[in-house]
Amino acid sequence: MEPDLRDLTRAEIETALTGLGEKPGNAGAVFMAVHRRGAADLAQLPNVPARVCRALGRAFSLQPLPLPERMLVAGDGTRKLLFRFPGEAMAECVVLPAKDHQIACLSSQAGCACGCTFCATGALGLKRSLTPAEIIAQFEACLREAVDLKSLVFMGMGEPFMNWENVKKAIRILSDSRGRHFPQVKMTVSTVGVIPVIEELTRSDLRVRLAVSLVAADPELRARLAPMEKVYPLRRVLAAVREYCRARQAHVMLEYILLPGVNDRPSDSALLAKSIEGIPCRLNLIPYNPPGGPGHPTPRTKEFQQELIAAGVRAYLRAEKGADIAAACGQLAAESQDLTPLPLLPFPL
Ligand code: SF4
Repeated sequence: MEPDLRDLTRAEIETALTGLGEKPGNAGAVFMAVHRRGAADLAQLPNVPARVCRALGRAFSLQPLPLPERMLVAGDGTRKLLFRFPGEAMAECVVLPAKDHQIACLSSQAGCACGCTFCATGALGLKRSLTPAEIIAQFEACLREAVDLKSLVFMGMGEPFMNWENVKKAIRILSDSRGRHFPQVKMTVSTVGVIPVIEELTRSDLRVRLAVSLVAADPELRARLAPMEKVYPLRRVLAAVREYCRARQAHVMLEYILLPGVNDRPSDSALLAKSIEGIPCRLNLIPYNPPGGPGHPTPRTKEFQQELIAAGVRAYLRAEKGADIAAACGQLAAESQDLTPLPLLPFPL
């Protein structure tokens, strides 16, 4: 099977056309035909000369854009869409209602190799990384479900920085002025702390926003909850984040999932505040949602937030959406697969 033309950025199409002996200037029309006009036949791309179409047809295919297999709608309006990509790679995306607009939450991988113990996706293991076209298919499906889609977050299934080349391509394709022209500044990429990609993003021309999932400030506890700590310790992750903020004059979004009795003790909030001191950030506290259903705020939730605010941290409690359809943070598990939910482990682990 020839490579799918949908996976290529406009710059890559230019290079491909040059390699095929055609003028790279046709790349804009080819890109627009595929990504804005929804062309389905490589032999008949609108506004593209027939000779160019024939040349592309010898080197590429144009696979149909995958459609969601199923959709669930939550009481609060959250919509979760399930995709079954080739190779039994299941992935979900979510349309989240905000005040007067919607947010698309996309998956970057089917499953995830990171194995965070509180996460339903982590319990699946990694099936495979998604292609740019499979990421774009999720965006297009969200666009159809949303009235006013204003922002996009890579916070669904998978660790986006472990599939960075494809996520990066999807970002470039979605933000291209000849395609959907979705602003990069309205896109947020979340990571549990893959330092080399944070460093790359620091130097990159991409304008996307960075979100970092902290999980726990104590290294030993973090290593037990998020095994990535053993490869990229939080201390070094935060050093990379400080440099990102300094070099780009940017704020970062920090996320902290609150696991009752595990990482929500007063000593945790104190260590957390100390660890992120001086980082220009907004810290989102995310109540834990067990795989089987919505979690319940505990009296500690508010106290934890107050302790952080008293220590000078801009800490917010994130209102969880879609927990009744397992679409909330940490619950995405492509439900039609077998899944053994991991129990929430008491501290000490
Ligand atoms: S929290 Fe994120 S990085 Fe960790 S297992 Fe889940 S999807 Fe992967």
